[in-house]
Amino acid sequence: MSKTQVFITGAGPTGLVLALWLNRLGITVRITDKLDSHVTQSRAMVVHARTLELYQQIGLADELVKLGNRDTHVNLHVNGKRKARFIFDAIGDTLTPYPWLLIFPQDSHEALLERYLQSVGINIERNTELIDFTQNREGIVASIRNADGSINKIEAQFLAGCDGAHSRVREILQVSFEGGTYDKLYYVADVEATGKAADKEAHIALERTDFLVVLPYGQQNKMRLIGTFKPDKYTKRGEYAFDDINSRCVKNLSLKVSTVNWFSEYRVHHRVAKNFQHNNVFLLGDAAHVHSPVGGQGMNTGIGDAVNLAWKLAAVVKNEASESLLKTYQTERQKFAYKLVKTTDKAFSIISGKTLLATGLRSLFFPFIASTAYHIPALQKRLFSVLSQISLNYRHSTLSEGKAGNVFGGDRLPWVKNEMINNFASLQSLKWQVHIYGEFSDNVAEWCHQVGVVVEHFNWHETYAQFGLAQNALYLIRPDGYVALASSNNHLANLQSWYVKSKITFKRSGA
Ligand SMILES: Cc1cc2nc3c(=O)[nH]c(=O)nc-3n(C[C@H](O)[C@H](O)[C@H](O)COP(=O)(O)OP(=O)(O)OC[C@H]3O[C@@H](n4cnc5c(N)ncnc54)[C@H](O)[C@@H]3O)c2cc1C
Repeated sequence: MSKTQVFITGAGPTGLVLALWLNRLGITVRITDKLDSHVTQSRAMVVHARTLELYQQIGLADELVKLGNRDTHVNLHVNGKRKARFIFDAIGDTLTPYPWLLIFPQDSHEALLERYLQSVGINIERNTELIDFTQNREGIVASIRNADGSINKIEAQFLAGCDGAHSRVREILQVSFEGGTYDKLYYVADVEATGKAADKEAHIALERTDFLVVLPYGQQNKMRLIGTFKPDKYTKRGEYAFDDINSRCVKNLSLKVSTVNWFSEYRVHHRVAKNFQHNNVFLLGDAAHVHSPVGGQGMNTGIGDAVNLAWKLAAVVKNEASESLLKTYQTERQKFAYKLVKTTDKAFSIISGKTLLATGLRSLFFPFIASTAYHIPALQKRLFSVLSQISLNYRHSTLSEGKAGNVFGGDRLPWVKNEMINNFASLQSLKWQVHIYGEFSDNVAEWCHQVGVVVEHFNWHETYAQFGLAQNALYLIRPDGYVALASSNNHLANLQSWYVKSKITFKRSGA
């Protein structure tokens, strides 16, 4: 029986990113998938800014950005009239290095992640299905079925269930997947089309009885459509084709579809697993939560789960933290999953509902909010921050403490870049680090040196205040770029007290 530190079952985006991060952190992994190749459909198209920031930390972002289409303009139409046009690069250019929606189809995305894994010597074991596992004091023993039907065992300290919405890991753990399924059926289609909305910009169109999302691939006339079926095909599953779609929005955007390259109907679920952890076994990505496609959050949230768990697993495997650290995975990620399901649920009910309230909100309230936001830059920034997940925080986590300037323990470190500095550059080490903007005391520097935490010192400049950072404050940053401790003064006592409470050892930690 072969033994590994972390066994990952499922090589979708979540499992692949977990494997990449764990590898960078020096952990041995095995990753298996029951299929013989990565997905061949475009599925999740949008890679949000926060995901790209996490990719930047492991040197992946540049290539993804090069291969994808930067979608900077999003238009909102109601009953055939354009009500708002958001220009993301102008809204988000002071918030993140990636102020757009990056359109990069999931099949190409998975292929790229797989290539990166191969380049560090990790091959996905394909045609290999997890059928069962048991847990013991040392970890887990999994039974896997190979392509020829033979059964092997894999022994590991931890098992990561990244095996999608129908997770076998979740089933074996008997963890309930609470929530529901919408009655209505939707379609996704990759098409070639001409017309008003074939302008390489994103479009969202709302009608009394229809909605449509248009996402451009960046290639001439190629785009993804997401929308509804004709009323008599709303709920029944069947062998449907593009002719069965509700074409009101398509017509109102003057789209003339010439070729349908991929077409699929799908049902939308909204569910969250009751537990994300059972001893040494974890649920991540679609295995832990599924929600409506509003805002393209699904895949991005799975990738966020993977990064959140990766550095914690690495610290525990290397004996640099007590096992209690792993409990913060569920605390931090399940809360976000619940919030996401609730908000996407509400938004989805409005954009797709048939009730009087939903049609009213769709034709009056949404356009009103959109056109208001259109004229209020602060509101636009807020909308962008939520959509791109850069405002996601872990303030409620036991790891988070304090406030300095406008930054709380649990917040993502604000990005500051000018001609002189880029405070995200040091995050590529994946190491715990203290950021000090202004003066720091010698005893802090000495203590950090002793315990092995890196100190990044930035001479104070008024610009920092604009990003919410406080002069002479101290920010302890986690390997995933979130602030653990925000201390408005640079007193060593605050740092020491956090260190004792957290039971984390900085020394040797990180890549
Ligand atoms: C048609 C369609 C369109 C979509 N469109 C969007 C969109 O526009 N925006 C968006 O954000 N999301 C979209 N999604 C959802 C998105 O694809 C998922 O959120 C994302 O793939 C989740 O990634 P994951 O790695 O968690 O799970 P998955 O991608 O489902 O990967 C799970 C992997 O586990 C493997 N596996 C399962 N069981 C086992 C087992 N027992 N043993 C070994 N391997 C196993 C599977 O083969 C699979 O490769 C769409 C999904 C579909 C199906």
